[in-house]
Amino acid sequence: MLLNPSKRTKRDIPLLLHDPVSLLLKITASRPPSLTQYRLHVQLLYNLAYVKSLLHVCTKFSPEERRAWKSNVSTSLGGIPFSPTDLNCLLGLVIQNLNIKTFKSEDSTSVFGNRLGYLTTVFSPQSVVSTVEHSLLPFLRIATLFQSHIFNQHPIPIESESRNEFAELVHILNLSPTNKNVTATQCLKWESAWNFITRWCKEINEFVESDVVISRQLISSNKEWYPPKLIELPHDYSALFQRYRQVVCDKCKLVPKDPAICLVCGSYICYKSSCKPEDGDADMQGTMSRLIEADRMLRQGNAATRHSKRCGAGTCILLLVNSSIVVVIRGTRACIWGTLYLDAHGEEDKGWKRGKPLFLKKERSELLERQWIQHSFDNSCKNWAAHRQTL
Ligand SMILES: [Zn+2]
Ligand SMILES: [Zn+2]
Repeated sequence: MLLNPSKRTKRDIPLLLHDPVSLLLKITASRPPSLTQYRLHVQLLYNLAYVKSLLHVCTKFSPEERRAWKSNVSTSLGGIPFSPTDLNCLLGLVIQNLNIKTFKSEDSTSVFGNRLGYLTTVFSPQSVVSTVEHSLLPFLRIATLFQSHIFNQHPIPIESESRNEFAELVHILNLSPTNKNVTATQCLKWESAWNFITRWCKEINEFVESDVVISRQLISSNKEWYPPKLIELPHDYSALFQRYRQVVCDKCKLVPKDPAICLVCGSYICYKSSCKPEDGDADMQGTMSRLIEADRMLRQGNAATRHSKRCGAGTCILLLVNSSIVVVIRGTRACIWGTLYLDAHGEEDKGWKRGKPLFLKKERSELLERQWIQHSFDNSCKNWAAHRQTL
């Protein structure tokens, strides 16, 4: 597909608007590749992801910036000879090949300028380099992860502040022979950059002609995928306590004696209560017969147990509002994890009996989140006990 763009139909989404990670998944899943084939696929998709990032960055340019970058390849503007290993030339070529409609007009920048950012952002050559490199990282991380799992080749690099993640990943993927002082442009390898870029930009132009609004939205959108996170808690425990005490439960319409917050989804739970929904609650209106049995199962036990099944297939993390204690539920068992809030001296106040101000301990919330992401509660928590659906 990448090598034969002529086989694509007019109704296809332009290659530059595809997600390189999804393409890598599709290609790899369709037929298990050898390591050499895998790296070839990664190289092709890296080239695509690189040009995609150039497309994305040039839509953020002001018209003057576009003109300046375009002059790098335009002989009429005194440009230098085209070089496929020069970012200035490659970016200039992308801009030169794109239909002017791809970019918002100056009139629309005045309306949407703040939202799009190009009235306030000025790109230096170095910031373009950094932006392109940064936008390639998600693809490189996933490609490295796949390679590690499929071929058991390299351990996945551990995060550290000092390391150069980009250089390490391109080296592991064999995009660069070295893991030091390598730039994103140096990792490109293709026989005819000019032809590929021209072709890919032509597809974009056709797409823009067919629907200018949708195409602009797709071109300017920049999807970043973040790892799962627990909900953010206030620094001061009293703010959380004041916010949630005396709050009426949406389901049973009562103020719970022992309210809890699910730290995964933020739901407000009647802890240690059956919390029977009122008639007519949306939860009770399961009309499809195949859902009835599942619904019955989910309704067994008390509110927190039921929530753990809905929220995390049996696992959930609850913060008890009255005591600041965190409880972890895992299937039929539960345990008291501890508290995330400590007093000014760094000491716990179990059950908030002393009533002293308590503050969120960042290290503890990070530890809890890490244990949740790594599914390590079974090993890291002690004192598990059967909850017998009573939570
Ligand atoms: Zn939840
Ligand atoms: Zn309730």
